[in-house]
Amino acid sequence: MRIRLALHWQMMIALLLALACGLGLQRLGVEHPAAQAAALQALQIVGALFLRALKMIVLPLVMTSLVCGMAGLGTAGKFGRVGLKTFAYYLATTTIAVTSGLVLVNVMRPGVGAEMPLPDQPPTISAPQTISELVVRIVPENVFQAMAQFDMLGAIFFALVFGLTLNFVAAGTRERLLPVVAAVLEVMMRITHVIILFAPLGVFALVSGLVAETGWAALRPLIPYALTVAAGLATHYFVSLPVLLALFVRVNPYRVMRAMSAALITAFSTASSSATLPLTMERAQQRVGVSNRVASFVLPLGATINMDGTALYECVAVIFLAQVLGVELSAVQQVTVFVGAVLISIGAAGIPHAGLVMMTIILSAVGLPVESAAMIWAVDRVLDMCRTSTNVWSDVTGSLIIAASEGEWDRSVLERPAERT
Ligand code: ASP
Repeated sequence: MRIRLALHWQMMIALLLALACGLGLQRLGVEHPAAQAAALQALQIVGALFLRALKMIVLPLVMTSLVCGMAGLGTAGKFGRVGLKTFAYYLATTTIAVTSGLVLVNVMRPGVGAEMPLPDQPPTISAPQTISELVVRIVPENVFQAMAQFDMLGAIFFALVFGLTLNFVAAGTRERLLPVVAAVLEVMMRITHVIILFAPLGVFALVSGLVAETGWAALRPLIPYALTVAAGLATHYFVSLPVLLALFVRVNPYRVMRAMSAALITAFSTASSSATLPLTMERAQQRVGVSNRVASFVLPLGATINMDGTALYECVAVIFLAQVLGVELSAVQQVTVFVGAVLISIGAAGIPHAGLVMMTIILSAVGLPVESAAMIWAVDRVLDMCRTSTNVWSDVTGSLIIAASEGEWDRSVLERPAERT
């Protein structure tokens, strides 16, 4: 008899097993360090294979998808409208997220009176780019270099321009080229689908390795801070974004969440919006019913510039550090933190720890020591996992709201009974 378990259950079970296995491995390390090392190595190989497969597919998938989406656009006016709605959505939800963070950190005051030693070996926090550099980088100097260096913004820009320009070349050229790109896209989607079959295994390997290697001692003094970030993220995840979905799309938001669970749990496990993108795109189209055109524009761009979870986290973290250092931030400084958090969430790359590294921009803007960011390093991974999942959930919510408003959402796809994959 074959047991057919829906993918969201497989993913949940993988997460729970990973937690149990990680804790078991921690114990094993005490008595049998060699056995623990061997098990960790095996998990690391499986986790790395999963991550690499996702990254392998991201660029070809995003680029072909964008070209097809833009080429089917017809008129530039329609592109302008979708673009405007997308940016309005990004800005609105990021602002809601930062506001929740700001309120919570000022009410919970997790840093007041906290004794926080600097870590023995503070991680090197490299100087981030300035905002103007980020703007200039949207246009890649060399598209192949942009792709090779995983510069998503540059690659997205080129694919957008290419796809849009296809609307203005001779019909013959378009008819020769577009079917080829569409065929490549179909193959990429198929590969993504196969990778999704391995997602429970990949998630299990990534999370159990992480749990096994995480020591509790370093985390303890940071618990009030971590809880504040988690409370903010949970509010945004389970209340603010679902309310928007219910209001603008009139759909049960938790049904959408369930349909997207493979992507949301993968985002949690990998802490990378960019690596999760293939799953986000596949699920949004195949399980939620968002059109290719909207999904291929809103999701890749969102993975790069729409990061509600990161923005909320930036705001809480900077104010927490100020509280720890005993610095009372003035109203103007709090506004600087607010605006800085929004800008940084736009500029941060969709990779692990990007938010922490970029935080140095806000710290120096409000006159706090840049090195103080090292104090929260110990809990950054787990918070990164939570904020990345929030980032991806906001992208999905946006794609659905925009698709529905454009008449490009196929509700029947979401209402199909859950399938095994
Ligand atoms: N890891 C996050 C992401 O990929 C970015 C961050 O560090 O906040 O979305």
